[in-house]
Amino acid sequence: MQAIQQLYNQLNESRNVVITTHQKPDPDAMGSSLALYHFLTQLGHSVQVISPTNWAAFLNWMPGCKTVIDYEKNKDKCDDLINQADWIFCLDFNTLGRTKKMTEALQQTPAIKILIDHHQEPQTSAFAFGVSDTSKSSTCEMVFDFVKGSGRMDLLTNEMMQCLYAGVIGDTGSFRFPSASATVHEMVAEFKNRGLKHTVIHDNIYDNFLEGRFRFIGHVLLHRLEIDYQLNTALIWVSKNDLLKYELKTGDTEGLVNYPLGIQGIKLAALIIDRDEKRKWSFRSKGDFDCNTFARTHFNGGGHFNAAGGESDDSLEANVQQFKSVIQQYKNQLEHL
Ligand code: 5GP
Ligand code: MN
Repeated sequence: MQAIQQLYNQLNESRNVVITTHQKPDPDAMGSSLALYHFLTQLGHSVQVISPTNWAAFLNWMPGCKTVIDYEKNKDKCDDLINQADWIFCLDFNTLGRTKKMTEALQQTPAIKILIDHHQEPQTSAFAFGVSDTSKSSTCEMVFDFVKGSGRMDLLTNEMMQCLYAGVIGDTGSFRFPSASATVHEMVAEFKNRGLKHTVIHDNIYDNFLEGRFRFIGHVLLHRLEIDYQLNTALIWVSKNDLLKYELKTGDTEGLVNYPLGIQGIKLAALIIDRDEKRKWSFRSKGDFDCNTFARTHFNGGGHFNAAGGESDDSLEANVQQFKSVIQQYKNQLEHL
């Protein structure tokens, strides 16, 4: 993978560009994709954002979101776009498998693939150009770096700042996690100096759910939360029935895994959801417990040090049993505060 800076002198030559991100895009995934979309469009490229799957309704306010195509709903059109693209930007993921049903199309296209990402252990051989930096708060911060590095800060619009800010608050827990560096605060200071209104972005993302989601959270915290105080670990499991009963939509479970971390002493919080054809895991930790390695070793996943995910074809019950059994191996790390 060559450095992304090599592309700077080619940015003025118009190209067919596809931008894509990981399945079930979160604010960082969608925000970085749309900010880059606005940037490259202004430079005269023909740009299409493709999401591998559907996304949460709380992202629909983002400028440009209406132009995004869902791969699962428009496979033929998307396959053509992917095959005919000159450049495919891959944002906020670093192994092609994170694009689910789109993986094969990305593997086979002759297009030049470009990575911008901050997750651990990138599959760099899959990309011709790129930047992978696990110290970055968010892919949105990296898209900002790309714009700045290209010398085209004159093209930083209010729409782009809204998208980038959304990704940053998503991935830093609103500037709470250790990844909220001085540089990301400096970036936001620049946005504020340029007139960004930030409160409405928090409202759009965090205060825009339907009642059912909160009834669901009440139900889950009462009946589906198990705490092991010996290992300072909490587990929430969610069945297909729970999702049906409360009519949950994509995105409604976002943030649920963080609740148990608010309990005194809890170091590791795990959430498993029986969703569609797979069981999907989320892991969050405080301090020195490495969620990325844990997810990679036991649950076919990965991510960041303090936040990772995974998936499994096994049943919900089998996964819960497996989790309870494997955390015993981490007793030494987990039992000490
Ligand atoms: P979440 O728990 O919010 O779905 O994901 C937490 C972090 O782990 C995110 O950065 C996400 O991209 C990553 N992640 C989630 N699921 C998977 C997975 O199945 N595989 C890998 N490699 N990363 C994942
Ligand atoms: Mn991210």
